[in-house]
Formats: sequence, C-alpha cells, structure tokens
Amino acid sequence: MVSDTIIVPKTQKAQLNCKFGLETELTEIPVPEPKDDELLVHLLYSGVCHSDGSIMKNTMPMLTPSTLPFVVGHEGAGIVVQIGKEVTGFKEGDRVGINFVNRSCQTCEFCKRTGAEAFCDSPTHLLTAKWGTFQQYITVSALQAQKIPDGVDLAKVAPTQCAGCTIYRALKETNTRPGQFVAINGAAGGLGSFGLQFAKAMGLRAIAIDFGQAKHDHCLRQGAEFFIDAQTQNVVEEMLKVTNGCGPHGVVSVAPATKPLEEALLYVRKTGTIVMVGLPDDGKFTLDINLMVFKGVTIKGTLLGSREDMDEVLQFLARGLIDIPIEIMGLSELPNAVKRLENCQVNGRIVLDTSK
Ligand SMILES: [Zn+2]
Ligand SMILES: [Zn+2]
Repeated sequence: MVSDTIIVPKTQKAQLNCKFGLETELTEIPVPEPKDDELLVHLLYSGVCHSDGSIMKNTMPMLTPSTLPFVVGHEGAGIVVQIGKEVTGFKEGDRVGINFVNRSCQTCEFCKRTGAEAFCDSPTHLLTAKWGTFQQYITVSALQAQKIPDGVDLAKVAPTQCAGCTIYRALKETNTRPGQFVAINGAAGGLGSFGLQFAKAMGLRAIAIDFGQAKHDHCLRQGAEFFIDAQTQNVVEEMLKVTNGCGPHGVVSVAPATKPLEEALLYVRKTGTIVMVGLPDDGKFTLDINLMVFKGVTIKGTLLGSREDMDEVLQFLARGLIDIPIEIMGLSELPNAVKRLENCQVNGRIVLDTSK
C-alpha cells in the first residue's frame, strides 16, 4: 500500500558498474516493487566499504556479481516508504538499516544457529544476488531490515550495518575480557575506528597498528591506548614492549593485506586468538604451524554479525558510547570515494548522500 503522504517515484538514480573497474555510471533505473514479505526503503545514506572497490574490480572471488551491469554498496540507512502485504511490525516512515544479508531462509542449519545467519545456505546477499545500496531505493525482507532507535543520525547508522557490526562481532570472537589487550591492524579505517571505540567501551586495552602521524592522532582519538607505526617501527618488537613482553590476548586483522596477519602470529599471546576480517585481493598467507601449535593460538574468520549484534551496536551508538567519524560525499562522487579508500586516504568512513 502506498500512503497519501509518501510519493514513491517510478525511477531512481543508481551508480551502475557496466564493466569491472572503479568507474561507474550514474544512471536512471526503475524503483523496485516490494514482494509480499518485503519493505521498499528510500535509502538516504550508504557507507563505502573497502570490499566495494574489490567487487567493482572483480578481485574478490567469493563476492563476484554474476552479471554485468551491477550496483555495489552494502551498508545503507533510510526510511520505509512501502510495505508488502504480509509484513507486520513496520509502518511507513520507520527508519531502518540495510545490511549485506537482504534475505535469509530461516530453515537451514546456519539460520537456526544463533549468530550464524550470515552463513545461510540460500540467502539473498547484496552484491551477489541483488543490487546493492548505491541507489536511492531498495527492497529488503522485513526480517532483515534493522529498526533504528530514535534520535540516532541515519548518516552514522549506515556504516554500522557492515563495518560497525562486523568489527563488534570480531571483538567478541577474540574472547577477550575487560582489562586484556586487543590489537587491531588497519586501525584508522572504518572498521578499525569503530573497533577502537568499541574496545574502549568494552573495557579492553586497544593497540592500534597503522601508519603515519595523521593515523596515529586519529587512532588515539578513537580510544587506542597505544599506536604502532607499521612503516617506521618493528611491529612485533613494539607489540611485545607495550604488552609487558607477552603480546595481546586478541588480535583483529582488519588490514586487507597478508603481512600484518603473519606478524600477528609472531606477537599474539600464547593461547591468544586471531580473528580475520579484512579481505586482501590475494587471500593466501603463510602459516607457521609449529608456532601456531606451540603457542596454542586460535585463528578464525568471521563474517558480519547477528541481528542481535546489530541491535547491540545501535544501542552503543544511541547511548553515545561510539561515534564513528564520517565524511559525507554525494552518490555521484562514488568513483572518487572508492579511489581514496583504495589509496588508504580515508580516516573513518565515507558515507554517500543519495540525494547528491
Ligand atoms: Zn563491508
Ligand atoms: Zn538459511
């Protein structure tokens, strides 16, 4: 049903990839119709994630759109403008977040298991099965639309939908407790910035790894207790120095590169946990099995988080315990935004305003 007050246009703007690469075409495309169990959402903001660039270049085999053209983007926030006839619990005007999982089957082993829904056997994921958030309107199953608490800025909500939720889950996966050390590499980016703030709010002692004075200052502002410069310092030596010679209890590897991951195995504390989040273009790394066994290290991957994690993240945001630094650009500026991300020239998160 379309309300009297909200007028849904027939067409909308979208940033279309007509070939693989960082160039896109701002194109007029139809506004989709919601299915019976879906919402149509007017996307006001979409965060730009490092993965978007990799998908545009087709360098991420797990996340390849099957056909050209396609629209990337997988963290959005907007307003419900139309409701499928079977949907309950939503009304037009509700504010919702859109994440990578657009629909999950609810019947497979992973949907049934708490927190594993991102691994659903037959999901609809943005980027692979469905066009993403670099457009003005999107449909989403009501189940996967994330209700946003009142008073929270939608522009700041967008980056919680991938970066915020993913890093929050990753911190939980380190199994660290308040007072323990957790190291985050690639700490000045979107995920890392969130991670440092969550770590502090969770009572963890965060050690940021990145490079340069600007990122040093940025990371300390986000809540890092120590900063290690991967370009000018020996990361392993410095890490041991700031953790009294024992290494951090947990490591979250955000940097989309393999060397920082290999270093993590050298400095992580005995029985510590390394959680892999960042996706390098070439996802192979060398693992010293002897070191892993004799130190009793756990290495694991994590993807996004659960809907419960997302609720918790939004509560952190609503309570003012985290406040992700964002830079707003127009949807039309997407190619420039992605290029800056690829060149590590972004502190915090770029969020696209879809009206510009
Ligand atoms: Zn992402
Ligand atoms: Zn499933």
